[in-house]
Amino acid sequence: MTDYPHLFRPLDLGHVTLPNRVLMGSMHTGLEELGDFDRVAAYYARRAEGGVGLMVTGGMAPNREGGVLPGAAGLFTDADMANHGRVTRAVQDAGGRIAMQILHAGRYAYSDACVAPSPVKSPISPFPPAELDAAGIEKQIADMVEMARRAQVVGYDGVEIMGSEGYFLNQFLVTHTNKRTDQWGGSYANRMRLPVEVLRRVREAVGPDFILIYRLSMIDLIPNGSSWDEVVELAQAVENAGATILNTGIGWHEARIPTIATSVPRRAFAWVTKKLMGQVSIPVITSNRINMPEVAEAVLAEGCADMVSMARPFLADPDFMVKAKSGRSAQIAPCIACNQACLDHTFEMKVATCLVNPQAAHETELVYTPALVEKMVAVVGAGPAGMTAARVAAERGHKVTLFDQSSEIGGQLNMAKMVPGKEEFHGLVRWFGDMLALHGVKLRLGVTVSADDLVEFDEVIVATGVLPRDPGLLVDAGHVVTYVDILTGRETAGERVAVIGAGGIGFDVAEYLTTDESPTEDLDAWLEEWGVADPGAHRSGLAPEGPQPAAAARKVSLLQRKSERPGKRLGKTTGWIHRTSLQMKQVQMVGGVSYDKVDLAGLHITRQDGTAEVIPVDTVVLCAGQLSERSLADALEAKGVPCHVIGGADVASELDAKRAIGQGARLAATL
Ligand code: FAD
Ligand code: NAP
Ligand code: SF4
Repeated sequence: MTDYPHLFRPLDLGHVTLPNRVLMGSMHTGLEELGDFDRVAAYYARRAEGGVGLMVTGGMAPNREGGVLPGAAGLFTDADMANHGRVTRAVQDAGGRIAMQILHAGRYAYSDACVAPSPVKSPISPFPPAELDAAGIEKQIADMVEMARRAQVVGYDGVEIMGSEGYFLNQFLVTHTNKRTDQWGGSYANRMRLPVEVLRRVREAVGPDFILIYRLSMIDLIPNGSSWDEVVELAQAVENAGATILNTGIGWHEARIPTIATSVPRRAFAWVTKKLMGQVSIPVITSNRINMPEVAEAVLAEGCADMVSMARPFLADPDFMVKAKSGRSAQIAPCIACNQACLDHTFEMKVATCLVNPQAAHETELVYTPALVEKMVAVVGAGPAGMTAARVAAERGHKVTLFDQSSEIGGQLNMAKMVPGKEEFHGLVRWFGDMLALHGVKLRLGVTVSADDLVEFDEVIVATGVLPRDPGLLVDAGHVVTYVDILTGRETAGERVAVIGAGGIGFDVAEYLTTDESPTEDLDAWLEEWGVADPGAHRSGLAPEGPQPAAAARKVSLLQRKSERPGKRLGKTTGWIHRTSLQMKQVQMVGGVSYDKVDLAGLHITRQDGTAEVIPVDTVVLCAGQLSERSLADALEAKGVPCHVIGGADVASELDAKRAIGQGARLAATL
């Protein structure tokens, strides 16, 4: 008997029965563009082995003009066909099923060849699209149909036609981007003609025994997006045109409302999909911020959908489903929805992976083989670097002891988890604890280790992390503390606060200081904060009154010396959310300052133009970067004890948990 009866109920699609109710949603990894299809095949086969019901590939371009980027992968040549044949065989050999996503980017294509229903430039691309004429539209349909046919030839079990997130087909649906007056524009019947026609012709080309998923934007979250009646009308037309399954898309990429970031509450949009249940007779999938089996089970049990889509959770743990099925949910590596190694990498043109699981999309290169010789390994520091090194070394068969001077594991993750909107870090620390116990790592907490304590070990790993940088502020009088003081509760800030340093930690501390109750823990409050309304009542799901954030708990100024816009270096796909959130809390963000002194009047600064100013504050919080804690590494070196230094203890600059975990894993894989 499984703990998740709804999740593991088979789904009969007519010509095929899926073993469970989970779809691995489409994610661009960048592997296809590398051309290394052994790696692509290994990536998907690994996830098929993990027991997901059906997978969807990253978006593949139906033609050059529709590619997300110049050079986007597709099924254009015989070599492409052969490569994709290797992928489908590998998946099917592993007992899985896979559909190819056909993604035409329209005006979101990052290229001067981009095309769209009308020449309306997107706010997130520098390229104005060319308006398609009637023949041009016919060509796009023909290319998508041909791609579906080719996908069938190379062995895919189906295709997903991407009709949401503001891509090409979505652009035809709404007056925001479709200004046409011919048969492809004007009335809603005309605007929805293109997606329906694509579906109809694809079904005609591939026959009945091929899965056809349509990803439908259920809540556009942009001005002049679709109304709910239009969503239902399209869903029914898509079903009639031959779709097997309807998948949910939430929000256009240009929407200014977060839809998948960690601060978005879990299952935040399942209620939107639920509105469609009963309106169509094909299975409906819900999506977004579903990352644990109990969340997926609840969504299904409550009738929000027939199936759930999870994408990033399968980067974090390819064995999600087998672990859930066999009562090992606590072992599922949690996707914390940070985007740091997946979506941010895609936007930086790097191969995607996962902060929690550096093996993701690196299956052929980062392999944890059983150790040839069992060694006694000491790891000092139970932050993400040390915990990962200890876990992987123990998993490989070494005898590992993990020391930390603190009474709990987690290192700085214990501060991250205190930040409103970062509650997922609690689960990450918990998971590390469970995995250390599972692999028999001996924990020695509350122990400050010296070099003498380590001489008996075969391998010593120093992961002692970082210390806050003291910026050497001139303090005459006043309350000056560090982020550690604040986030560990050692100190409490006054009503008016200046935060020195606007890096990731400065932003997090400003969020912490201005927020009493985390809206991430309260869906209604979160929807109100960001101005999301019932799309049945308000077109596109935008509340007419706009965002309604809670009042800020404190008056905060966030400062940096660089003259660039504060927050410019935050994550590519999440920085805007942090900036917007603080703007909503009226945090004053100031760049280009120098710090003169602190006294009872407040923080004295000089602006870039030479103007001196006093910011009247009760507390100054230092978030001025970090320095490596190397005292143990130096002591070991002085004693001639060899050691490996990882994480912040190695390099403090631009340190984050992604690097710490990656370095810990890669070292432990070689011991
Ligand atoms: P640490 O996490 O600093 O751990 C070092 C450990 O060593 C500590 O537990 C310490 O007690 C122990 N130690 C030190 N000396 C000794 C000794 N002599 N003996 C025994 N134990 C010792 N990163 C991200 O990627 N994404 C985020 O969203 C994010 N948010 C953050 C939010 C905040 C508020 C903070 C403070 C950090 C955040 N980070 C984030 C950064 C991330 O937490 C760090 O980069 C990461 O924890 C560094 O890992 P580490 O293992 O090198 O060191
Ligand atoms: P950081 O991003 O390097 O920011 C340090 C800040 O301190 C900068 O704004 C810097 O700005 C300022 N500073 C540096 N030296 C200073 C000095 N001598 N005097 C005064 N100000 C000084 O580092 P962080 O905020 O400490 O974060 C540490 C790491 O944790 C980051 O690398 C980040 O990746 C990670 N993190 C990530 C997230 C996330 O959401 N992804 C969140 C938190 C932390 P000026 O030099 O312009 O003054
Ligand atoms: Fe999830 Fe972050 Fe991993 Fe992406 S990098 S899969 S968001 S944990």
